[in-house]
Amino acid sequence: MAAPPRSPAAKPRKTPAKAPVRRRLPPAEQARIATLFERFEAAESDPRTELNYDSPYTLVTAVALSAQATDVSVNKATARLFAVADTPEKMLALGEEGLIPLIASIGLFRTKARNVIAAARILIEQHGGEVPLERAALQALPGVGRKTASVVLNELRVEPAIAVDTHVFRVAHRLKLAFGKTPDQVEAELMAVIPQPYLVRAHHWLILHGRYVCVARRPKCEECPVADLCPSRALFS
Ligand code: SF4
Repeated sequence: MAAPPRSPAAKPRKTPAKAPVRRRLPPAEQARIATLFERFEAAESDPRTELNYDSPYTLVTAVALSAQATDVSVNKATARLFAVADTPEKMLALGEEGLIPLIASIGLFRTKARNVIAAARILIEQHGGEVPLERAALQALPGVGRKTASVVLNELRVEPAIAVDTHVFRVAHRLKLAFGKTPDQVEAELMAVIPQPYLVRAHHWLILHGRYVCVARRPKCEECPVADLCPSRALFS
Protein backbone atom coordinates (compact mmCIF):
# COMPACT_ATOMS: atom_id res chain seq x y z
CA MET A 1 0.00 0.00 0.00
CA ALA A 2 1.55 3.31 -1.03
CA ALA A 3 2.33 5.74 1.73
CA PRO A 4 -0.35 8.41 1.51
CA PRO A 5 0.38 12.06 2.16
CA ARG A 6 -0.29 13.42 5.58
CA SER A 7 -2.99 15.92 6.27
CA PRO A 8 -2.45 19.27 7.90
CA ALA A 9 -3.79 19.71 11.39
CA ALA A 10 -7.52 20.19 11.38
CA LYS A 11 -9.03 23.22 13.04
CA PRO A 12 -11.00 22.33 16.14
CA ARG A 13 -14.69 21.91 15.34
CA LYS A 14 -17.09 24.50 16.65
CA THR A 15 -19.70 21.98 17.69
CA PRO A 16 -19.05 18.53 19.11
CA ALA A 17 -19.56 15.56 16.81
CA LYS A 18 -22.88 13.85 17.31
CA ALA A 19 -22.18 10.69 19.28
CA PRO A 20 -23.23 7.57 17.39
CA VAL A 21 -26.05 5.54 18.87
CA ARG A 22 -24.34 2.43 20.22
CA ARG A 23 -25.94 -0.96 19.65
CA ARG A 24 -25.99 -3.55 22.38
CA LEU A 25 -24.32 -6.74 21.19
CA PRO A 26 -23.76 -10.14 22.83
CA PRO A 27 -20.33 -10.27 24.52
CA ALA A 28 -18.97 -12.77 22.00
CA GLU A 29 -19.94 -10.52 19.11
CA GLN A 30 -18.45 -7.48 20.84
CA ALA A 31 -15.21 -9.42 21.28
CA ARG A 32 -15.21 -10.54 17.62
CA ILE A 33 -15.67 -6.99 16.36
CA ALA A 34 -13.05 -5.61 18.73
CA THR A 35 -10.57 -8.24 17.54
CA LEU A 36 -11.35 -7.42 13.91
CA PHE A 37 -10.33 -3.82 14.41
CA GLU A 38 -7.33 -4.73 16.55
CA ARG A 39 -6.11 -6.72 13.55
CA PHE A 40 -6.73 -3.84 11.15
CA GLU A 41 -4.88 -1.52 13.50
CA ALA A 42 -1.97 -3.91 13.84
CA ALA A 43 -1.66 -4.02 10.04
CA GLU A 44 -1.94 -0.23 9.54
CA SER A 45 -2.23 2.01 12.56
CA ASP A 46 -2.86 5.28 10.71
CA PRO A 47 -4.78 4.54 7.52
CA ARG A 48 -5.32 7.47 5.15
CA THR A 49 -6.97 8.27 1.89
CA GLU A 50 -5.05 7.37 -1.25
CA LEU A 51 -6.01 10.68 -2.80
CA ASN A 52 -3.12 13.15 -2.88
CA TYR A 53 -3.68 16.45 -1.07
CA ASP A 54 -1.76 18.89 1.07
CA SER A 55 -4.46 21.14 2.51
CA PRO A 56 -8.16 20.97 3.39
CA TYR A 57 -8.90 22.76 0.11
CA THR A 58 -6.99 20.31 -2.08
CA LEU A 59 -8.54 17.45 -0.09
CA VAL A 60 -12.13 18.57 -0.56
CA THR A 61 -11.46 19.25 -4.23
CA ALA A 62 -9.83 15.86 -4.80
CA VAL A 63 -12.64 14.04 -2.99
CA ALA A 64 -15.29 15.93 -4.98
CA LEU A 65 -13.48 15.03 -8.21
CA SER A 66 -13.28 11.37 -7.20
CA ALA A 67 -17.01 10.64 -7.51
CA GLN A 68 -17.35 7.80 -10.01
CA ALA A 69 -13.61 7.92 -10.72
CA THR A 70 -10.64 5.98 -9.39
CA ASP A 71 -8.20 7.55 -6.95
CA VAL A 72 -5.40 6.85 -9.43
CA SER A 73 -7.11 8.81 -12.21
CA VAL A 74 -7.90 11.68 -9.84
CA ASN A 75 -4.30 11.81 -8.58
CA LYS A 76 -3.03 12.05 -12.14
CA ALA A 77 -5.34 14.96 -12.86
CA THR A 78 -4.79 16.78 -9.57
CA ALA A 79 -1.00 16.56 -9.98
CA ARG A 80 -1.46 18.90 -12.94
CA LEU A 81 -4.32 20.88 -11.44
CA PHE A 82 -2.87 21.60 -8.01
CA ALA A 83 0.40 22.71 -9.58
CA VAL A 84 -1.48 25.71 -10.95
CA ALA A 85 -4.48 26.02 -8.62
CA ASP A 86 -4.26 24.80 -5.03
CA THR A 87 -6.32 27.56 -3.41
CA PRO A 88 -9.85 28.82 -4.02
CA GLU A 89 -8.44 32.12 -5.31
CA LYS A 90 -6.22 30.43 -7.88
CA MET A 91 -9.05 28.07 -8.85
CA LEU A 92 -11.43 30.93 -9.44
CA ALA A 93 -8.78 32.71 -11.51
CA LEU A 94 -8.29 29.54 -13.56
CA GLY A 95 -12.01 29.46 -14.31
CA GLU A 96 -14.13 26.71 -15.78
CA GLU A 97 -12.51 26.97 -19.20
CA GLY A 98 -9.04 26.65 -17.75
CA LEU A 99 -10.05 23.85 -15.41
CA ILE A 100 -11.80 21.57 -17.90
CA PRO A 101 -8.69 20.54 -19.91
CA LEU A 102 -6.89 19.64 -16.67
CA ILE A 103 -9.60 17.28 -15.44
CA ALA A 104 -11.00 16.06 -18.77
CA SER A 105 -9.65 12.55 -18.08
CA ILE A 106 -12.07 12.18 -15.15
CA GLY A 107 -15.70 11.15 -15.54
CA LEU A 108 -18.37 13.87 -15.30
CA PHE A 109 -15.66 16.49 -15.73
CA ARG A 110 -17.92 19.25 -17.01
CA THR A 111 -20.27 19.07 -14.06
CA LYS A 112 -17.35 18.71 -11.67
CA ALA A 113 -15.60 21.74 -13.21
CA ARG A 114 -18.73 23.83 -12.76
CA ASN A 115 -19.04 22.73 -9.14
CA VAL A 116 -15.36 23.27 -8.31
CA ILE A 117 -15.46 26.83 -9.61
CA ALA A 118 -18.77 27.57 -7.86
CA ALA A 119 -17.39 26.13 -4.62
CA ALA A 120 -14.23 28.24 -4.90
CA ARG A 121 -16.37 31.35 -5.23
CA ILE A 122 -18.43 30.46 -2.15
CA LEU A 123 -15.31 29.68 -0.11
CA ILE A 124 -13.90 33.11 -0.94
CA GLU A 125 -17.13 35.05 -0.49
CA GLN A 126 -18.47 33.28 2.59
CA HIS A 127 -15.54 31.62 4.34
CA GLY A 128 -12.55 33.88 3.79
CA GLY A 129 -10.96 31.40 1.39
CA GLU A 130 -10.87 28.65 4.04
CA VAL A 131 -12.63 25.29 3.96
CA PRO A 132 -15.22 25.19 6.76
CA LEU A 133 -14.68 22.00 8.71
CA GLU A 134 -18.30 21.58 9.65
CA ARG A 135 -20.67 19.18 7.97
CA ALA A 136 -23.51 21.58 7.19
CA ALA A 137 -21.21 24.23 5.68
CA LEU A 138 -19.28 21.62 3.71
CA GLN A 139 -22.43 20.05 2.32
CA ALA A 140 -23.63 23.49 1.25
CA LEU A 141 -20.76 23.64 -1.25
CA PRO A 142 -21.63 22.68 -4.83
CA GLY A 143 -20.55 19.11 -5.58
CA VAL A 144 -20.07 18.22 -1.90
CA GLY A 145 -22.64 15.72 -0.70
CA ARG A 146 -22.86 13.79 2.51
CA LYS A 147 -20.32 11.19 1.37
CA THR A 148 -17.72 13.75 0.32
CA ALA A 149 -18.18 15.69 3.56
CA SER A 150 -17.79 12.46 5.56
CA VAL A 151 -14.54 11.59 3.80
CA VAL A 152 -13.13 15.10 4.39
CA LEU A 153 -14.16 15.32 8.06
CA ASN A 154 -12.93 11.83 8.74
CA GLU A 155 -9.63 12.20 6.90
CA LEU A 156 -8.88 15.43 8.78
CA ARG A 157 -9.88 13.69 12.03
CA VAL A 158 -12.53 16.33 12.70
CA GLU A 159 -15.25 13.82 13.41
CA PRO A 160 -15.72 10.10 12.98
CA ALA A 161 -17.70 9.36 9.85
CA ILE A 162 -18.05 6.37 7.60
CA ALA A 163 -18.71 7.12 3.95
CA VAL A 164 -20.24 3.92 2.63
CA ASP A 165 -19.09 3.24 -0.89
CA THR A 166 -19.24 -0.06 -2.74
CA HIS A 167 -16.16 -1.43 -0.90
CA VAL A 168 -17.34 -0.50 2.58
CA PHE A 169 -20.83 -1.82 1.82
CA ARG A 170 -19.49 -5.18 0.64
CA VAL A 171 -16.99 -5.66 3.47
CA ALA A 172 -19.50 -4.63 6.13
CA HIS A 173 -21.92 -7.26 4.88
CA ARG A 174 -19.34 -10.03 4.48
CA LEU A 175 -18.02 -9.41 7.98
CA LYS A 176 -21.61 -9.15 9.25
CA LEU A 177 -20.99 -5.78 10.80
CA ALA A 178 -24.07 -4.46 9.03
CA PHE A 179 -27.11 -5.86 7.28
CA GLY A 180 -28.80 -2.77 5.83
CA LYS A 181 -29.88 -2.46 2.23
CA THR A 182 -28.80 1.15 1.71
CA PRO A 183 -25.52 3.00 2.34
CA ASP A 184 -27.23 5.17 4.96
CA GLN A 185 -28.47 2.12 6.87
CA VAL A 186 -25.06 0.48 6.72
CA GLU A 187 -23.37 3.68 7.89
CA ALA A 188 -25.68 3.89 10.91
CA GLU A 189 -25.10 0.24 11.75
CA LEU A 190 -21.33 0.58 11.49
CA MET A 191 -21.31 3.69 13.66
CA ALA A 192 -23.31 1.73 16.23
CA VAL A 193 -21.10 -1.35 16.51
CA ILE A 194 -17.52 -0.29 15.82
CA PRO A 195 -15.70 0.31 19.11
CA GLN A 196 -15.12 4.00 19.80
CA PRO A 197 -11.30 3.94 19.65
CA TYR A 198 -11.46 2.66 16.08
CA LEU A 199 -14.33 4.75 14.73
CA VAL A 200 -12.36 7.54 13.11
CA ARG A 201 -10.09 5.13 11.25
CA ALA A 202 -12.69 2.47 10.42
CA HIS A 203 -13.70 4.04 7.12
CA HIS A 204 -10.21 3.72 5.69
CA TRP A 205 -9.61 0.24 7.03
CA LEU A 206 -12.84 -1.03 5.49
CA ILE A 207 -12.28 0.72 2.19
CA LEU A 208 -8.68 -0.48 1.86
CA HIS A 209 -9.65 -3.99 2.91
CA GLY A 210 -12.33 -4.02 0.23
CA ARG A 211 -10.07 -2.52 -2.38
CA TYR A 212 -7.10 -4.86 -1.90
CA VAL A 213 -8.18 -8.01 -0.05
CA CYS A 214 -11.92 -8.52 0.21
CA VAL A 215 -12.41 -7.68 -3.46
CA ALA A 216 -15.78 -8.15 -5.11
CA ARG A 217 -15.39 -11.23 -7.28
CA ARG A 218 -12.70 -13.36 -5.71
CA PRO A 219 -11.85 -12.15 -2.23
CA LYS A 220 -8.33 -13.08 -1.18
CA CYS A 221 -9.46 -14.99 1.90
CA GLU A 222 -6.22 -16.94 2.10
CA GLU A 223 -4.29 -13.73 2.81
CA CYS A 224 -7.02 -12.00 4.82
CA PRO A 225 -5.90 -10.98 8.32
CA VAL A 226 -9.42 -11.44 9.71
CA ALA A 227 -10.37 -14.67 7.93
CA ASP A 228 -10.85 -16.58 11.19
CA LEU A 229 -13.32 -13.90 12.34
CA CYS A 230 -15.26 -13.72 9.09
CA PRO A 231 -18.68 -15.44 8.89
CA SER A 232 -18.47 -15.36 5.08
CA ARG A 233 -15.13 -17.13 4.79
CA ALA A 234 -16.75 -20.50 4.03
CA LEU A 235 -18.62 -19.04 1.05
CA PHE A 236 -15.35 -18.45 -0.78
CA SER A 237 -13.44 -21.63 0.11
S1 SF4 B 1 -12.24 -13.91 4.87
FE1 SF4 B 1 -12.64 -13.45 2.72
S2 SF4 B 1 -14.78 -12.76 2.66
FE2 SF4 B 1 -14.08 -12.62 4.77
S3 SF4 B 1 -13.32 -10.52 5.02
FE3 SF4 B 1 -11.57 -11.81 4.50
S4 SF4 B 1 -11.40 -11.65 2.29
FE4 SF4 B 1 -13.46 -10.94 2.83
